[in-house]
This record gives sequence, structure tokens and C-alpha cells, in this order.
Amino acid sequence: MKWVLRFARVFVIAVATCAAAWLLFPRPISEFIFRTAISLQSLPDTAQQDGLHVFLCGTGSPLPDPTRSGPCLGIVAGGRAFVIDPGEGAARRLMNMGFPAGAIEAVILSHLHSDHIDGLGNILLQAWIVGGRKVPLPVYGPAGVENVVSGVNEMFRIDSTFRTAHHGTEIADPAGYGAIPRFIDLVPFKFTEVIADAEVRITATAVSHAPVHPAMGLRIDHAGRSVSFSGDTVYDPRFVKLSKDVDLMLHDAMQHWMIGAFEEQAQALAPGAVAIKILQDIVDYHATPEEAAKAAQEANAGELVLTHIAPPLPLRLFYPAFLGDAPQVFDGPITVGEDGMIFSFAPNG
Ligand SMILES: [Zn+2]
Ligand SMILES: [Zn+2]
Repeated sequence: MKWVLRFARVFVIAVATCAAAWLLFPRPISEFIFRTAISLQSLPDTAQQDGLHVFLCGTGSPLPDPTRSGPCLGIVAGGRAFVIDPGEGAARRLMNMGFPAGAIEAVILSHLHSDHIDGLGNILLQAWIVGGRKVPLPVYGPAGVENVVSGVNEMFRIDSTFRTAHHGTEIADPAGYGAIPRFIDLVPFKFTEVIADAEVRITATAVSHAPVHPAMGLRIDHAGRSVSFSGDTVYDPRFVKLSKDVDLMLHDAMQHWMIGAFEEQAQALAPGAVAIKILQDIVDYHATPEEAAKAAQEANAGELVLTHIAPPLPLRLFYPAFLGDAPQVFDGPITVGEDGMIFSFAPNG
């Protein structure tokens, strides 16, 4: 018993000393902590590592979630980097994760909903400056991608002149500014190759996100490893077929009864509010966790990661309620995606 008292006394004295030191010398202590913290920021250089790496740079939806950025997926395949759906906050989150922005080879837009493209401008600036690009970045997308690209190019053009004036043409070469559109022409009932060479193959299929046409699901293959991404869709057998035997399936997920609970609250608070109609509308074009699990099971996916999480889930405490029956539907592991997660697959392994 004595040693417990002695330990408690030492603990109280230590805490009191730290508190007193902080009150007396906050600035030098804060500076010391800052310098120590930034020395821990040396992140692994994924561009140098072979294999297939998946960066969850945004796992949220348009519903405001304090812990999740807008939809965003970073892919590094054999050192080549791709960004799929640069939603709001994408560039910042990718920087935090050590994503090789200088190696970004292309951006792919699964569809043209605002939440999947509203971070495109900052991604273009990152790729341009960090990559020292000499030609604009290709942005692949469905019909309408030309409008999106020309709009973003115009929106940031004045900013680009400031960057060149400030950093010089070696770093910010005007010839490399912005993007060039690459139209993906989806063929009904077939898969479409977006990028295909000896190292990387990215394949697209149409998925069901009506009234959004077209919307795409994607599959990325590299060195015997594979990942698929649903984009925004309900359960769609075409995406299941595209995802056959992938190591990892990423699927959008919206738990409908939870959205219904929000709707009930909104009805009680403000009957007839616009938000109620929107909540009723959004459930018909996103898969539930259970439907995502069904897709993963039928595709024989190695694991399932849920993304485009709705409603917002600020606490892990809510994950079992969100998943519902999904763990009983899919035999493999299911992860509720969180911003900052990285999934790595060694080549041929
Ligand atoms: Zn979306
Ligand atoms: Zn959408």
C-alpha cells in the first residue's frame, strides 16, 4: 500500500511541476514540442516502393462530417501516382499522407457530381508545382469533362501567373499549368480501358447513379494486385463483374435507416424543410453497407473498405450500427474507411 501512496505522490508532484513549467515558460516549451513534432514528419516515399498503394484521402460525402473530407482516392502503382475523384480537401489530405504529388500522372473523375470534383483545382496546382510539370495534367472523365477542365483552368489562371512570378519558370512553368481533358467513352455492356500499358491497367464500367449519367466504377491492376472503386452507385452487377477477385474493393456506403433517423428529426424540427426532401432523395442512388458487402462477396474480393460514408460518423462507437448486417453478408474483413488510411499490396504477393 505504501508504494502506491509514494507513486501517487510522485505523480502529483510531476504533474504539478509540468503545469507550473508550462505556466511560467509556455513559449520555449511550445517551440520545443513543435520542433520535436516536425522531426517525426518524415513519411515513407511511396513513389519509390513497388506494389499497389491505396490512399484514402477523403471518405466523406456532401453531408458535413468533421472527420472526413470529400470523396478522394490516391493510387500509387509501381511509383506512378493517380488521383481519383479529387473532392474538397483532397490536396491537403494527400499532402498530410505523404502522397507523391510530384509523381501524379493523371486524375480520373468517376462522375461529375460536385463533391467528386471540387478539389480538382488544388490537385492541379500541387501536381504542377511539386512535379515541375512541363505539360498540363491529363484529367480523364465522362462526357462533360471538357467543361470541368476548361472551367478549372480558367478559375486558377490568374493564380498561376502569381506562382510563376513568385517562384520562377523553373518551378512554375506556364507551359505545364492546368489540365487537358481526356474523354472516357463508355461502351454499354463492356469494360473500357482508361489507361493500359505494361505496368498499369485502369478499367472502367458504367454504374447506376441515376439521374447522373454516366457514372463509373473503376478497377486498377498492377503487378498482379488489384483494387476496385465503385464511385457512387447502388448495388450494380456490372461493378461486381469488374471487381472479380480483386484484393480490395472500395464501395460507397450509406446506411438508409440512419438517414431516415435524421429525416425524422428534421420533420419534427422544421416540417417541409428543403433538407427533408434532399434526405429522401439521396437514399435511392447509394448502396447500403449490406449491398456493398453483397457486391464484395459475389466478386470474391479479398477485403472490403466502405467509403463515401453517410451519414457522418464522427465516433467509431457508431460503426456497428452503420454496418448493420454487412459482416454477415461478406466473409472477408470490412473496414469503415477513414481519412488517412493507406492500404499497401506487395507485387505478386
Ligand atoms: Zn458523391
Ligand atoms: Zn455522386
